[in-house]
Amino acid sequence: MSKFVTEREMEFQRECMKRVAARNNGQTAFVDTYGCQQNEADSERMSGMLTEMGYVLCNSDDADVVIINTCAVRENAENRVFGVIGRLVHAKRRNPSQIIILAGCMGGEASVREKIKKSYRHVDAVLDTTSFWRLPELILGLLEGDERAAEINTVGGVVEPDSRIAEGMPVSRLYPHKAWVSIMYGCNNFCSYCIVPYLRGRERSRNSEDILKEIREVVADGCKDITLLGQNVNSYGEMTGEGLDFADLLAKVAEVDGDFLIRFMTSHPKDTSKKLLDTMASNPKIARHLHLPVQSGSDRILKIMNRRYNAESYMELINYAKKVMPDIVLTSDIIVGFPGETEQDFEQTLKLVSEVEYDSLFTFIYSKREGTPAAEMEDPTTPEEKSDRFNRLIELQNAISLKKHKEYVGKTLRALVDGEGRQGDHNLSARTNGGRLIHLSGDKSLIGEFVPVHITQATTWSLVGEIDKGLMNGVRK
Ligand code: SF4
Repeated sequence: MSKFVTEREMEFQRECMKRVAARNNGQTAFVDTYGCQQNEADSERMSGMLTEMGYVLCNSDDADVVIINTCAVRENAENRVFGVIGRLVHAKRRNPSQIIILAGCMGGEASVREKIKKSYRHVDAVLDTTSFWRLPELILGLLEGDERAAEINTVGGVVEPDSRIAEGMPVSRLYPHKAWVSIMYGCNNFCSYCIVPYLRGRERSRNSEDILKEIREVVADGCKDITLLGQNVNSYGEMTGEGLDFADLLAKVAEVDGDFLIRFMTSHPKDTSKKLLDTMASNPKIARHLHLPVQSGSDRILKIMNRRYNAESYMELINYAKKVMPDIVLTSDIIVGFPGETEQDFEQTLKLVSEVEYDSLFTFIYSKREGTPAAEMEDPTTPEEKSDRFNRLIELQNAISLKKHKEYVGKTLRALVDGEGRQGDHNLSARTNGGRLIHLSGDKSLIGEFVPVHITQATTWSLVGEIDKGLMNGVRK
C-alpha cells in the first residue's frame, strides 16, 4: 500500500509557511528547472509553496531564494548544473543573506551532497525529490539559522529517500491552459542504464480521488491540456489497494466534465496493455498520442538493458494501437551505442523504426551514468561508430517524419494554441491532438483555446497552418 505523509506533518509545513510569510517583505524567489516534466511538476509545487511564503517569483540569480531543481539522468547535464551553481557564488557575495538550495534528482546522490558541502560552500541546503514537500520547514530553519535544516533526509551521511506521498501542497502552475498532474512517483524497473530508481525511490501511486480532485480543480481553472505523469504510468495502482489500473484511471479522468485533452507519460512497453489502448480508442478526450520508449530493436540489447520485453511483443502493441486508432501519433526514445551494441543489433533498431514509422523520435547516444550496472559494462564501440549509427538513424527517422507530416497538408485539424511562436512570420504555436507542433498566425488572445487549423505546409519537425475562420465559431468554446 502507498504510504502518505501525515496530516500533522503537512500542518507543520503550513505553519512554517505562515511563519516565513509573516517575516517576508516582498522578497523574491527563483526556481531554475532542469530535466523532465516530473521536475517541471515538482517546481510548480515548490513555486506554490514559495508564493504562500510571500515570495514574489522571478527569473534572476539575484533572487533572495534560488532553487536549482536538477536532473541526474546524464552526467554531462550534472556538470552543467555544477557550472550554474559555481556562478551563483557572485550573487551570494552581492547578497550574503541569499538562500541557495540544490533540489531534485542530484539532491538524492550522496556524492553530490559531499561535493556541495566540500566545494560549494555558498549552497545552503540540498533537498532530494522525495522530500521537497519539506521546503517550508527548510527555509524557515535557514532563516532562523538552524544548521540542521540543511540535513533533511540525511542520516549519518546516507541519503534516505522518503517513500511516502505528500498531498495538499499548494501549486503555482506555469501555464493556465496546461497542467502536469503526477499520478505516481518512483520506479521499480531498474533498467540497467538508468539512475532514477536509486534517486526517486520505489513506485508509489496516489489515490484516484486525490488525482481526480486535482483534475477537477485545473479544469475549473480553464486548463485544456492535462498530462498525467509518472516514471511508468502503466503500473499505476499496483499499490493503492483500490483495484484500479491505469486504464481505469484514464477512463475516470475522461469522465470529468469539461473540454480538455488528457495525455500521459511515460509508458513502459512491458506494462502497456491492450485494455489501455482500447480505453484510448474509445474516448475522444484522451489524446491520440502514444509515447512508447523502445530504446533498441535488438532483443539481445533489450535483455542487457533489463527492459523485459522484446521486439516482437513491442510490435504487437504498436500494431494493435494502429488497428484500434488508425490516426495514432507514435513517438519513442532510442539509445544508440549501448555498451556492446553491434552493427547487427543496430540494424535491428533500424528495421523496427522502419516498421513502426514513428511520427518523431527522441534519440540519444548512450552516455555513461556512474552508479548504474551499464556503467560497468564493456563498451568496445568507438565514438565514431556510435555517431555514424546515430546519424543513420536520424536520417531514416527524418525521412519518415517528413512523409508523415506531409500527410497533414490540406487537412483541417482541431489544435490547442499553446503559446507565442518563434517561427518566421508566425506569432503563435499550437499542438494537434497527437501533439504535433503547428506554427500559425493569430491574435494572442487565442492562447489556451482550441481552434480549427488548416494545414498548408509540412517540414520534418513541424507543420504550418492557418486558422480556419469559417469553422471558428463551431470549434471555439
Ligand atoms: S522505467 Fe527504466 S528508464 Fe524509466 S525511470 Fe524506470 S528505470 Fe529509468
